[in-house]
Amino acid sequence: MVEIKNPLYDTACLSTQALHADAHLQVTSDVAPAISVSTTFEYAKTTVDACNYGPDQRYAYSRESTPTTTKAESVLSTITEGHAVLYGSGLTASLAVLLQYKPKKIALGESYFGVRKVIEQYRALVPNVQVVGSECSYDGVDLVWLESPVNPTGEVKDIAAYALRAHAAGAVLVVDATLAPPPISYPFRQGADVVVHSATKYLGGHSDLLAGVVVVRAATGAVALRETRYVLGLGTGSLETWLLLRSLRTLSVRVKQQSATATRLVSFLESIRRSAIATQCHKPCEEQLSLGRHIASVQHASLQINGAQCNPNIALQHPNGFGAVFAVSFASKCQALFVARALGLHRFATSLGGVESLVDWRYGWDSSAQPTLLRISVGLESFDDLAKDWKQALQALEVSERKAAKL
Ligand SMILES: *Cc1c(COP(=O)(O)O)cnc(C)c1O
Repeated sequence: MVEIKNPLYDTACLSTQALHADAHLQVTSDVAPAISVSTTFEYAKTTVDACNYGPDQRYAYSRESTPTTTKAESVLSTITEGHAVLYGSGLTASLAVLLQYKPKKIALGESYFGVRKVIEQYRALVPNVQVVGSECSYDGVDLVWLESPVNPTGEVKDIAAYALRAHAAGAVLVVDATLAPPPISYPFRQGADVVVHSATKYLGGHSDLLAGVVVVRAATGAVALRETRYVLGLGTGSLETWLLLRSLRTLSVRVKQQSATATRLVSFLESIRRSAIATQCHKPCEEQLSLGRHIASVQHASLQINGAQCNPNIALQHPNGFGAVFAVSFASKCQALFVARALGLHRFATSLGGVESLVDWRYGWDSSAQPTLLRISVGLESFDDLAKDWKQALQALEVSERKAAKL
């Protein structure tokens, strides 16, 4: 086996890296990676002295690692510009970060409800851990947990600004970049110390595997993470690891396409909403006017680069698009649920990042979410079909609202 990674792969483009950054780990002539299901690996008989068997060999027991894990981590490390360690889920990865850094005072930004639950579990285990908001003073803070883009709104945080504040206080900046995998964002470039991904979402991309990734800048950090993963058995199963490696091959085309379609859809829905509130609107846009009148707001990073919210760092942070998750809020909870059910192409289900478009009512999971908000995860359907789906769902809402008004 050629153990040395071809240095070409470090300078290649993402789409090339995703296909070849594990080629040096291939032991057979198979072009597609083989799935490795063995939990145990034979000790070498030739190189080992009698009193000291096996400690220098690469694989011994699968709780530690497997050949497929190494391959997936090689690709993940190359594309995320760090040292990647793979876990059984995004939340397991989040727990691993807490176990590694053992923070005493956490500054926590808006974040996925599951991450908040993991932090609660950690606090139940470790006494006297304080949690403050990410906008509070970082006095005494040793870990800042930021999510960007934020689930469920798809809005972006200025990572560079948080990195400055965190580092001034001597704190570690962790960025959960689940909603913006490469090539959408590279948080180390803005100063993040640790990057977390739920690989269940875009990295896996097909709604068929649970996994998570922690990426650190230094190889030594990855060694410590792997030791805890081994002891606690926090890693992925064989099938998931293999599915992930296979899915990473198409990451770049999937994510760029999903992000571009989402941005078009956001602009389409935002223009419908705006035309509904434009007072000078006459006959030709009457249909659009009534369609958009129930939309209270559309949220997405692409809407943050213009107008009052505009921050030049955000455009820099997102050189290849803004991600494929956005939020649409309605005047009432019932309207939101009506639209979630009326959408036909968008499956009404939780999760995000898969090849099929999904709509989720986050309040059902997270009582801190607005009950009027729908989270949309855009898949690989065509923009025209998704826009048509929205039009028919909003039309159905309009018909239902008019009927109710007449009763
Ligand atoms: C889904 C998600 C997680 C949790 O990942 P799992 O793989 O479901 O454990 C963490 N953070 C964000 C932003 C997510 O969307």
